[in-house]
Amino acid sequence: MHAELKAHPEYFRRQLVQLADNVHQAFGFAASNVYMIVGEDGLVIIDTTETTAAAKNVLAEFRRITDLPVRTIILTHAHRDHVSGASVFAAGADPEILASARPSGDSLIEKGPHPRPTRAQQIRTRRQFGIGLSYPDEIIGIGIGPGDRPLEGMGAGIMAPTRRIAEAGETIRVSGVELQLVMAPGETPDHMVVWYPEKRILFSGDNFYRAFPNLYAIRGTEYRDFDSWADTLDRLMAFEPEVLAPGHTKALFGRETIRAALTDYRDAIRHVVDETRKGMDAGLTMDELAHSVKLPPELAEKPHLREYYGRVDHAVRAYFTGTMGWFDGNPTSLGPLSPQEEAERFIALAGGAEAVLAAVERARADGDNQWALQLVDRLIAAGPDPQGARRIKAQILRRHAEAQINCPTRNYYLQCARELEQ
Ligand SMILES: [Zn+2]
Repeated sequence: MHAELKAHPEYFRRQLVQLADNVHQAFGFAASNVYMIVGEDGLVIIDTTETTAAAKNVLAEFRRITDLPVRTIILTHAHRDHVSGASVFAAGADPEILASARPSGDSLIEKGPHPRPTRAQQIRTRRQFGIGLSYPDEIIGIGIGPGDRPLEGMGAGIMAPTRRIAEAGETIRVSGVELQLVMAPGETPDHMVVWYPEKRILFSGDNFYRAFPNLYAIRGTEYRDFDSWADTLDRLMAFEPEVLAPGHTKALFGRETIRAALTDYRDAIRHVVDETRKGMDAGLTMDELAHSVKLPPELAEKPHLREYYGRVDHAVRAYFTGTMGWFDGNPTSLGPLSPQEEAERFIALAGGAEAVLAAVERARADGDNQWALQLVDRLIAAGPDPQGARRIKAQILRRHAEAQINCPTRNYYLQCARELEQ
């Protein structure tokens, strides 16, 4: 396992964290955080986790603090890990449920003709989040959340919002607590943050967490708007929060600490955009840029920009395809051979399948796992023993996973290894 990931189980240890006299964070219970604001005669809940099981655990903890009814549930955005426990918090209280009126490509609370996730996206979601991998032997975490979290009732508690907040945002008053709901497109276009002016706490959804931002999710997402996300970070800074309460990972405290972290985040996104654009203008292909664009070391070393969740090279690819489409600009790529045909010719050129297999074994012995994967894929496509090649690929994936700092990548390798072994 990557040395930095060894600290994740302790970092994500379950706990209730008090952010102010009347504000509590349920941390480490689920992929995402849940917040409770205690008003005079009722509660506000912000986000609801990805499973009813986790939501029940969180609610039980909150009930040790107060038995006031839940008056309002606020959803920062419509991703599964934030909306799926709503029914648990709403039970017996009939609260108002508020969400942004903005549509989002992968919203789970949208009604109507919205396309449901494809089967391919569902399979890839399992791989990215390592759903079904054993803890702690295989999955260590998801990068921005714990690995040992309940999975029962995933998606089961989703409720439709009772009211949608329009573009201009809104100030609400619940049980004597005044909150501002503000549109803040970032990780998704429907993001809505919650500003609690009296306590100077900003609930920022997934526009910030302790990892390089996930500008592309390998589960398969549409283009995420890099410039909107960077602009939104400026808007978040303008609140001058004393506490930053993110959708994932721990809260940040102190005006200057928060300003510095949000500035780094914004600058990292802008850096990827600027460098990718420069490279595209210089005629570089997507593959070349994915290898050449790096964060400056002073940003790359910040704990909130480590690639535990998003990856810089994946962000570069996402920006390239989001801006230019799939064609990388190299005329060779306009009509390449099929993978099958390329593999047949590659194997022949290498001197046959046995020579390729020997090269796979040498690469494995050297720990050159990516090259081993690229070789073994040709044997799967066009070798005499595709089944045997698949078994070897599973072994390489397991080994390769151990070197990864990026949890989605690690989980994806391990889940695919399992699939190949079955
Ligand atoms: Zn999330």
